[in-house]
Amino acid sequence: GKGIAVFTSGGDSQGMNAAVRACVRMGIYLGCKVYFIREGYQGMVDGGDNIVEANWASVSSIIHRGGTVIGSARCTDFRQREGRLKAAQNLIKKGITNLVIIGGDGSLTGANLFRQEWSSLLDELLSTSRITADEKKKNGVLHIVGMVGSIDNDFCGTDMTIGTDSALHRIIEAIDAIVSTAYSHQRTFIMEVMGRHCGYLAIVAALASEADYIFIPEDPVEVNWPDALCDKLQQERNAGQRLNIIIVAEGAIDREGKPITAEDVKKVVVDKLQQDTRITVLGHVQRGGNPSAFDRVLGCRMGAEATLALMEATETSVPCVVSLDGNQAVRVPLMECVEKTKAVAQAMADKNWELAVKLRGRS
Ligand code: ATP
Repeated sequence: GKGIAVFTSGGDSQGMNAAVRACVRMGIYLGCKVYFIREGYQGMVDGGDNIVEANWASVSSIIHRGGTVIGSARCTDFRQREGRLKAAQNLIKKGITNLVIIGGDGSLTGANLFRQEWSSLLDELLSTSRITADEKKKNGVLHIVGMVGSIDNDFCGTDMTIGTDSALHRIIEAIDAIVSTAYSHQRTFIMEVMGRHCGYLAIVAALASEADYIFIPEDPVEVNWPDALCDKLQQERNAGQRLNIIIVAEGAIDREGKPITAEDVKKVVVDKLQQDTRITVLGHVQRGGNPSAFDRVLGCRMGAEATLALMEATETSVPCVVSLDGNQAVRVPLMECVEKTKAVAQAMADKNWELAVKLRGRS
């Protein structure tokens, strides 16, 4: 059978284990030899015990666990050709020519580069006697397929990334907990949530928790936001509300592109309204905990589809990323999504927020 390896790379997210599990089991079911690569690209470059064969039982009892049991890392070696040469040699020694990458756009870009370079890497490995002519012949083409694991939901081409839903659950639980104490003491709470340059977590959490105000990167507030904010908070209090909840995305900015932090917001509320105001930065709690049912099922469906996509890949087929489109796991061209995701980042940097939102699409 074919040699397949699965690894997780970049930031972790809940549901990655479900994806690993489904990919491994679908591979075994189809008669493949399936491997884990531990610690992302670092494990691929270092080889040895980092590349181990998986069996049916080795992915038991992981679906309910957050993070990634096979480890994830950022790896500078893989950014250099020498690192990729070592990685290629390690894969060839095990007959692995199919890779499933679960990571963000950086990890997918790296995999695509690796695939493009594959034959020249093999030439160099052969000419330096690190592989044999037979090994080169047997492992001539590298197939890759990606899945996006990220709590931020910042990737173009999929409605949801693996982990976003669980992170939302964490945020909502935290806000609910804060609301009860805020109510008792008539306080205003400012919650900072993750998302990097994407306001998805902030906006959906705000909707689901009846927050009074949000600050997100894609719809920056006018520079006179302090007045607008205070008017709104005061109006709520006048209507009898005992508390206020304000959500600040970590990438929040104003119309001039100046970052807005939870501290900035607190200062405004305290100075102008003298409200008893506290900040809660949720931080890494958002990445933690058990994956939601949605992320488990998403990981299962995507992982199985990823293995099927590898089985059907040909020398000329375009590498894909498995995405969610409505309720369907679908395959979309990997580099098209990566390019679009990069274009969104550029549009944000250019302060062209409308374009960024348009490019990002449905999610
Ligand atoms: P996250 O969204 O969580 O940041 P990511 O996959 O975008 O995930 P990166 O740190 O950008 O995270 O990339 C993860 C790893 O992928 C890097 O440490 C590096 O090993 C590899 N990688 C990223 N970009 C490239 C590239 N252009 N060429 C080769 N390898 C790369």
